[in-house]
Amino acid sequence: MKLAELGEFGFIERIRAAAAVGNGVVHGIGDDCAVLELPPGQHLLTTKDLLIEGVHFQRGWTDSRRLGRKSVSVNVSDIAAMGGRPRHLYLGLGVPADFTVEELQLFMDGFLEAVTEYGACLVGGDTCRSPGPLLISVTAEGSVAAGRELLRGGARVGESIYVSGTLGDSALALQLLTAGTPLDPHLEARHHNPTARVALGQALAEARLASAMIDISDGLSADLGHILKASGTGALLEEPRLPLSEPFRAALHNDPRLMQLALSGGEDYELLFTAPPDRDAALQDLAGSLQLPLTRIGVITAPDAGLRLRNAAGEVRQADCVGFNHFARVSAPKNDATC
Ligand SMILES: [Mg+2]
Repeated sequence: MKLAELGEFGFIERIRAAAAVGNGVVHGIGDDCAVLELPPGQHLLTTKDLLIEGVHFQRGWTDSRRLGRKSVSVNVSDIAAMGGRPRHLYLGLGVPADFTVEELQLFMDGFLEAVTEYGACLVGGDTCRSPGPLLISVTAEGSVAAGRELLRGGARVGESIYVSGTLGDSALALQLLTAGTPLDPHLEARHHNPTARVALGQALAEARLASAMIDISDGLSADLGHILKASGTGALLEEPRLPLSEPFRAALHNDPRLMQLALSGGEDYELLFTAPPDRDAALQDLAGSLQLPLTRIGVITAPDAGLRLRNAAGEVRQADCVGFNHFARVSAPKNDATC
C-alpha cells in the first residue's frame, strides 16, 4: 500500500493506537501538545538527533525495523550520557514517495519496540512527504535527580578514564559495508542495532561514581576531546588497554592500521567517563552486576599535555582529537578540534 492511500491522519491514528502510555504522561498523542509531568526534584533532559538517508544510513544496507530501533537508541544514548532515565520521545518523519506503508509499519514496530525496552514512551511527532531522502528526526526527553546530572566538564587531573563495552566495531562494520564485504553478525548488530547504556549511566550518576561523562558517537578521541576541552585538562591513553571485540581483533591481526577505527571511528554508543582512582573496585562490581565490561583506558593529565597515546612499546605520541565531522570538507576529513 502506498502511504498516500492511508493518508497522514490514518498513519497518526495507527501510531496513536500502538504507542504505549507511560509514567508521567497526563495526555499523550492526540491533542495539540502532549501534557507531561516530572517527579519532584528531577531535572528535564532534552536531546535531538537527525538521521538522513545517504548521510547517516543507506536503506539498502539495513532494514526498516532496525532503522526504527537505531533511531531511538542514538537519542536515548545522549540521555544515558547524562546519567538520566529516558521518558518521552517525539518522532518527525519525512517519507519519500517510494516508502511503502508496510516498510513504514516495520520502522514503527522497531521504533516502538525500542522505546518500550528503554522504559520510555512516544508522545508526539509530525510526518510529511519528502521530495528526496528518508528523513528521521527524533527528540528524546529524560530526567535525572537535580544535581546528579553528569556533565563533560567535571574531569580532574589524576582521575582515571573508563569506557564501557568495546570500541571500533561499528566503524569497522561501516568500512566493510562500504567495501561490499560480508559482515560478521556481531559487527553488523553493533552498527545497525546499537544499545544505549542506560542502566550504566543511571548507576554511575546515582552512586556518584563518575565525574564527567559523554557517549561515543563521533569516536573515542573526538568525544574524549570534548571532555578535555570542557574540563580544561589533557589525557594519556594506553593503546593496549583499548577494549576490542573478538571480530575486531581478528580484523586488526590482518591489518594493524584498523587500530585507528578504535581510536576515531564513530557510532560506538558506549559511555566514556572519568572517575577518581579509588572508585575502581566499585566500578568493577558495577561492571559485574551489569554484565558490561568497564575498562580503564587512561588517565586525566594537565591541560598543556593535550591528548597523548602510549603504545605497547611504551612510546608516547600526541593524538589528534579527530572524529567524524559533518561539516569537514571531503578533501580534508580531519577536523580542527583542539584538545
Ligand atoms: Mg552525545
